[in-house]
Amino acid sequence: MVELEAGEQVLHEIRKVGYETPERVKKALLGPSYIEKGTLKLTNSSLIFEGKKIQRRFKKISKISKKDTKVKLGGGYVQVDYKGSDGKEKSALFGASSMAFWSKGKATENLYNTLTHWLQSEKKEAQYMPRCPTCRQVATFVQQYNKWYCTRCQRYL
Ligand SMILES: [Zn+2]
Repeated sequence: MVELEAGEQVLHEIRKVGYETPERVKKALLGPSYIEKGTLKLTNSSLIFEGKKIQRRFKKISKISKKDTKVKLGGGYVQVDYKGSDGKEKSALFGASSMAFWSKGKATENLYNTLTHWLQSEKKEAQYMPRCPTCRQVATFVQQYNKWYCTRCQRYL
């Protein structure tokens, strides 16, 4: 399980999402196959993939795009471009081929639309601000201590 950071909350979950890396897709002869399937959690500050063995957090996402593949598995992948902890630009690929509630062939398009909406959502910013449990005032994030602070009560949450 990926631990949530201070002030972070899960806004939306998408189950049965396949996670893949561009490196593996380049090597593959038969087209897409997923390293692992799991749940994609859309939070107010990052995107988290949680499978049985693999857990990944994707922050500083610059672009979400559709990537078609020759082999039809829900119509290809959704590519997420992000900046890694080493500062380098990286990509992750997600697919949603077996989602029962999405019609076949539209699964990846729906995943793309959901992720794009999430990335562009202004609500994300508003929900990122937690409130003080005592006085309900919106808290202020203190970078130095990596904590949320209530200016009215003058204490950390
Ligand atoms: Zn307070």
